[in-house]
Amino acid sequence: MGRSGPARAGFPEKDSANSSAVDNVAETAYVLTQPLEPPITMTMSDFVPEATSADDLPHRDIWQSLKRGWRQKCPSCGDGRIYGKFLKVNGVCSSCGTELFHHRADDAPPYFVMTISGHVIVSGILITERMFSPPTWVELAVWLPVTVLLSLWLLPRVKGALIGYQWALRMHGFGNPAFDSDNLAQLPPSSSETVS
Ligand SMILES: [Zn+2]
Repeated sequence: MGRSGPARAGFPEKDSANSSAVDNVAETAYVLTQPLEPPITMTMSDFVPEATSADDLPHRDIWQSLKRGWRQKCPSCGDGRIYGKFLKVNGVCSSCGTELFHHRADDAPPYFVMTISGHVIVSGILITERMFSPPTWVELAVWLPVTVLLSLWLLPRVKGALIGYQWALRMHGFGNPAFDSDNLAQLPPSSSETVS
């Protein structure tokens, strides 16, 4: 104010500068006496319903999920396919949007496939040997292809059943209730949606 107007006689610039400095001190002192407000912070838990116990989560039928997975269908809706290719799991169900990439089937499917096919094949070899005692080349010609075909037939079904099992028990990423299709609508909107 003093700087913009003409300088008054006998009142040098520094006096008005001193008075504004006093005002600044008073204002600063007033601000310092005000109670501090905590900063506003929002986390995911403000948007995502938090389950206090397993009873709060919707029930998932284990046997139904196993059967749906065996049929290579989404364990949640039983409609969309689990796989895009032979054993390549789809990221999300094309029918209901359930996120399937949370599965951790890893090497469990081959383990179970070997256990199942081993019992079937070894039993078959022993039974045919006992009953017919065919030449060795006949045994090999029959059981080697059967072993390969049975394993390839079992693998996607066993893997699907395991994924259904993990989904039903909310293992790994399947355990976050925020990923349930019922709760997806309550997630915070993405930044592109908030801009008007
Ligand atoms: Zn689905």
